Amino acid sequence: MIHDSFGRALRDLRISVTDRCNFRCTYCMPAEIFGEGYKFLPRAEILTFEEIARLARLLVGMGAVKLRLTGGEPLVREEVEKLVAMLAAVEGVQDLTMTTNGFLLPQKAAALQQAGLRRITISLDSLDDAVFRRMNGNRSGVQKVLDGIAAAEQAGFSPIKINAVVQRGVNDHTIVDLARWAKERGYILRFIEYMDVGTLNGWRLEQVVPAKEIVARIHAEMPLEPIERNYRGEVAARFRYRDGGGEIGLIASVTMPFCGDCTRLRLSPEGQLYTCLFATEGTDLRGPLRAGASDAKLEQIIREMWSARDDRYSEVRAALTEEARHQSKVEMYHIGG
Ligand code: SAM
Ligand code: SF4
Ligand code: SF4
Repeated sequence: MIHDSFGRALRDLRISVTDRCNFRCTYCMPAEIFGEGYKFLPRAEILTFEEIARLARLLVGMGAVKLRLTGGEPLVREEVEKLVAMLAAVEGVQDLTMTTNGFLLPQKAAALQQAGLRRITISLDSLDDAVFRRMNGNRSGVQKVLDGIAAAEQAGFSPIKINAVVQRGVNDHTIVDLARWAKERGYILRFIEYMDVGTLNGWRLEQVVPAKEIVARIHAEMPLEPIERNYRGEVAARFRYRDGGGEIGLIASVTMPFCGDCTRLRLSPEGQLYTCLFATEGTDLRGPLRAGASDAKLEQIIREMWSARDDRYSEVRAALTEEARHQSKVEMYHIGG
């Protein structure tokens, strides 16, 4: 086990398997920027599955027992199920999951389940087709994602988790509908406060709907009560419906930061490790990896990086100047949330 400068252990590893995506969500990869001419990482610069699995094995040995595959869109990486199988075979992995926009799940859900993926989170910001299209750059209607969710259920994923980013004036008028829909189907819905990740999405504080307000709006229609977190370090604040009909979670990184418990490390597609969602630079592992570094050498690099970790961006965000907030932070599509 390794601990950072605030005594936080390393527990969760988020692996971004690609910087590409078939959606253009305005809050993540706005189409104006990620257009035809946008240069994504060339194949040779992206870690191979073998390289990812080797790093994962080392990191699991250092405490990262929860693995999440993300992106970009993880399902656009060819044969990602092969990577799932390799990670499922790593000794010590307690949880292996994926966050996806769901579009390709009808083709992929069964293969992912067979490969050993046990849980899945599907992003769906609204059930209103026009609203959803506006948010994803008109790349998908709601039905496509619903088909993906159905495929995941059929393949045996349970429970299904749904992520919804909430933006004031964009989809906040549809959150109660989404909550009712998830409740009826037994899905665990997690609302995410719109975050100032990266520098490309033109984030404004006025567009953040505070978690408290989200809860109040749902509570007014379907009464809720708070419940304990599942474990220390869980980022979602949880509420259950008083009628016993399931729960919702709130990821309130803007209004209720949780840096004190943050045990997450992020691996980018080209092999950089980021110790914070809002980091301005990463630690390169691909260089040493491809130069033939031993496991011991790689472990030493990771240990040094984690020991020096002092990130708590969300806790200090309010005190930062505009300029500091706009420093060249890593983008969400790059490290996957
Ligand atoms: N493409 C996959 C998906 O959308 O589920 C995985 C990668 S995506 C970057 C991971 C999660 O981050 C998604 O649930 C997405 O909605 C969320 N996300 C992206 N940009 C965000 C932002 N600016 N604020 C809050 N959440 C964001
Ligand atoms: Fe793609 Fe996910 Fe970002 Fe949307 S949030 S653009 S689906 S990576
Ligand atoms: Fe963790 Fe950084 Fe988010 Fe704080 S701001 S919870 S340190 S990722």
